[in-house]
Amino acid sequence: MSSDLVIVYHRQPYEEVQENGKTVLRENKSPNGIVPTLKSFFGGVTHGAWVAWKLAEDPDNPDFEPRIEIEDDHGKYSVFRLPLSAEQVREFYHVTSKEAFWPILHGFKERYNYDPVDWANFRTVNWQFAEAAAKEAALGGVVWVHDYNLWLVPGFLRQMRPDLKISFFHHTPFPAADVFNVLPWRREIVSSLLACDDIGFHIPRYAANFVSVACSLFDVEVAKRVRVPEKWISEGTALTERVQPTLLAHEGRQTSISVAPVGVNIDYIEERARAPEICAKAAEIREELGDTKLLLSVGRTDYTKGGIEQLLSFERLLEGKPELKGKIRLMHVSVSANRNMTAYEQIQNEIEQIAGRINGRFGTLEWQPIALISRAIQFSELVTYYRAADVAWITPLVDGMNLVCKEFVAARVDGDGVLVLSEFAGAAVALEDAVLANPFSNRSMDRAIEDAIAMPEDERRRRMASLWHAVAQTDIKNWKPIGFLTGGDKTFAAE
Ligand code: UDP
Repeated sequence: MSSDLVIVYHRQPYEEVQENGKTVLRENKSPNGIVPTLKSFFGGVTHGAWVAWKLAEDPDNPDFEPRIEIEDDHGKYSVFRLPLSAEQVREFYHVTSKEAFWPILHGFKERYNYDPVDWANFRTVNWQFAEAAAKEAALGGVVWVHDYNLWLVPGFLRQMRPDLKISFFHHTPFPAADVFNVLPWRREIVSSLLACDDIGFHIPRYAANFVSVACSLFDVEVAKRVRVPEKWISEGTALTERVQPTLLAHEGRQTSISVAPVGVNIDYIEERARAPEICAKAAEIREELGDTKLLLSVGRTDYTKGGIEQLLSFERLLEGKPELKGKIRLMHVSVSANRNMTAYEQIQNEIEQIAGRINGRFGTLEWQPIALISRAIQFSELVTYYRAADVAWITPLVDGMNLVCKEFVAARVDGDGVLVLSEFAGAAVALEDAVLANPFSNRSMDRAIEDAIAMPEDERRRRMASLWHAVAQTDIKNWKPIGFLTGGDKTFAAE
């Protein structure tokens, strides 16, 4: 019981690789991403700890050492690995989190799968996470819990350790009450979250939705409202979202609701984008392309990412504008992360089928309209494509934030390039100079990509300069998600 900050995140803060038959720990490959960002918070505390799960053949094996000490660029911290069996991981992560919570969080009620959920297992795993955090945290310390797969941790932790400051951050969207309340465990989940001192979201809309859900289920008093800062009010911001509740009172406890949009590490991306080998490779790609325009789409294979809708829009573009044949290419990176899940396999198959059909319909010996890539690309290589592309086409049906679009802007050290962005990515709240598209509307999608391809250079540069400023405002160095840990001057709650 010695850590003044305990981060509870389902993944471990390093990668385990096999070298000469031995397991070695490696720093995560990319310094741009949520894990290094969270670890950077250890720099501001005396001692930190991280709680995650680790796959164990036999979780009861007494030889398993759950706690290890790490020393890296972020300082010294302990990592507590909760041993979970393959069956526990399947039920807690792949079934309950991905088949029940994920579709609801993203508004896909029809994909919500209730039947296979083993709620008792989900509770047990969350209880174990809470127990581990309770053991690690110093008296009055901060426990910072992340994401929906650990929703029950705050409630359990509050019972175990009433002295702690508990904060929770949602990295996903948060839906309105009529969607969220489809979950039969809604009261238990929200009651657990109300045990927090602070709950963080990416954008005001998700925070407002959470408040409406809490008010629909419990006798919650909105103790304080504030005006949303101007920088987060875009044209599309509904009147009801311009003034937001930031303090909730429930059963004698107060919970602050904060909004802190996560950003990217601009210095790191710029440094990569200016690296001579990346500039040379990007120039080579451009030379090979000649006057052919390169559209770039990057995302995980997930029904939320809108890959199918985008490919269909590209097909309509080639049908409607025959003059673009041979003059345009789409590099569609759709990384299959969850190969063992039927829903994701189906999407992957459909994407492959549609891309194959488009290449078959329009391709020639010299020209293939789509380059489909389904493996993960190393970040440095991705930066090369960000630099080489004419248009980044990022149109998820819904996305908590979306970092790819911010990375694209940060990588455009040449000040050129067009971003086509879905209105329903959290990032769109601040990136109003992107070409915004509604991926549920064929007309909107088709017009956006046509406008992007035809955009004159002076307009491209003007918009990119404005986008860069917006991305710089949420540089990861400025991310202040929990007031009592960071001073909170940048959070929405404190303004
Ligand atoms: N990414 C990557 N290689 C790939 C595809 C994506 O390194 O082939 C990275 C990308 O740079 C970004 C992250 O994966 O940092 C995706 O984050 P985002 O918020 O856009 O989507 P998420 O997958 O978290 O929903």
